[in-house]
Amino acid sequence: MEIVSPEKQFICHLDDVRLPYDALVGDEDGGLLQLFAGLNPERIMASAMGAGIGRLALGKATAYARDRQVFKTPIGAHQGLAHPLAAAKIELELARLMAQKAAWLYDEGDDMGAGEAANMAKYATAEAAIHCVDQAIQTHGGNGLTTEYGVGMLAGVVRLMRIAPVSREMILNFVAQHSLGLPKSY
Ligand SMILES: Cc1cc2nc3c(=O)[nH]c(=O)nc-3n(C[C@H](O)[C@H](O)[C@H](O)COP(=O)(O)OP(=O)(O)OC[C@H]3O[C@@H](n4cnc5c(N)ncnc54)[C@H](O)[C@@H]3O)c2cc1C
Repeated sequence: MEIVSPEKQFICHLDDVRLPYDALVGDEDGGLLQLFAGLNPERIMASAMGAGIGRLALGKATAYARDRQVFKTPIGAHQGLAHPLAAAKIELELARLMAQKAAWLYDEGDDMGAGEAANMAKYATAEAAIHCVDQAIQTHGGNGLTTEYGVGMLAGVVRLMRIAPVSREMILNFVAQHSLGLPKSY
């Protein structure tokens, strides 16, 4: 995998696997429902991960922007850098709110509400994290792509968040169909 992460990532293929009956997890013939029950917390967890990476990247960017001087001025004094960082901060805080809403609905046992909010939170935190990391790299200039500053290494993992554990397009399909009542598209 072309991403930097603390754990190793593998593709796992399962072909023609047969298991004994006592290996059954959950109820017989309930596999899909049981699978779906795990999707909302996974999406909420992925949202928390995106929000955390976004915060990390913004923290590094703002520290650097306060410290780094070019032509005797801290680069954070320039609106060309400050405004995109501020916009990323707003986007991130809004996305975190939706993640908290999804977690609250899930804890309340509202599976349908949590499903909608978890999808929206996953979408919003992924997009916010991508923007935070991209702007953090830009703020660091050439240092943004060095190993020492630990910003460039975040690019792969936030980009992954637009794809996994559910892709941006499948979230938009869900919202179009379930939140907006539009015809199913697939
Ligand atoms: C590093 C990594 C870790 C992962 N970890 C996990 C994990 O822990 N658990 C897990 O369950 N999965 C995991 N995944 C898998 C991930 O959930 C899938 O890659 C993701 O859901 C997309 O499925 P796919 O790769 O089969 O793409 P495809 O389904 O082949 O889709 C390809 C593209 O077509 C788009 N597309 C497909 N169908 C439609 C449609 N109807 N309308 C519009 N666009 C469409 C998709 O959005 C995507 O952009 C991981 C993937 C990666 C890369």
